[in-house]
Amino acid sequence: MPATLDAPQAAPVIALVADLSLWERAVALYASDMPNTYGYQDRGDAAFLDWIGQGVARLGRDEIRERASYLAGYRRVWLRKLETREIKRRHARRFPSARRLNMAESRASASISFVAESTPAARDLPTVIDGQCPKCGGAGKFWATWVIDDASDWCEEGFGPCWLCQPEGGAA
Ligand SMILES: [Zn+2]
Repeated sequence: MPATLDAPQAAPVIALVADLSLWERAVALYASDMPNTYGYQDRGDAAFLDWIGQGVARLGRDEIRERASYLAGYRRVWLRKLETREIKRRHARRFPSARRLNMAESRASASISFVAESTPAARDLPTVIDGQCPKCGGAGKFWATWVIDDASDWCEEGFGPCWLCQPEGGAA
C-alpha cells in the first residue's frame, strides 16, 4: 500500500510511479532536480515522488523506458564484470555521473516503501545490452558443456542460449 501523502497531486503521481519499474524510477530521478544530497525520509514525502514525475516529464515515457532497459542490461553485465569498452562508453554517455546514478538507483529502490505496486507494463521492462554481448558476441548462443543432470554428472556439449543477453536464457 502506498503511504498516505497530503499533497493534492499525490494520487496521480502514485499511479504514474506504479507504472514504472525500479530501473525507470532510477532514470527519472537521475534526470530530475533531486539534489544528490537528498536525505530519504521514510514518512510520505510528496517532493520525492514529484521528482520522479519531473524526470518522466523531462525525458518522456519512451525515453525513460529505453534508458532503463539499457541500465538494466548494463547492470547485468557489470555484476559479472564483463563490461566491454563499448558498453562502458555508452553507459557513461547516458549516465555521466556515477555518483548520481548510484544515488538515483538506491532512492528508486527505497521508493517501494511509498509505491509498492507495479503494473504489468512496469514488470515487463526488457533488459537490453547496449553493445555487442561480451559472452556470445551477439550470436545469442554459444558452444559449451551444459549440465543436463547434476546428480548423475550428465553433461552434453553443444550450443545453448546465451544466459547473458537472451531473455529466456535461464539463470538471470
Ligand atoms: Zn549473449
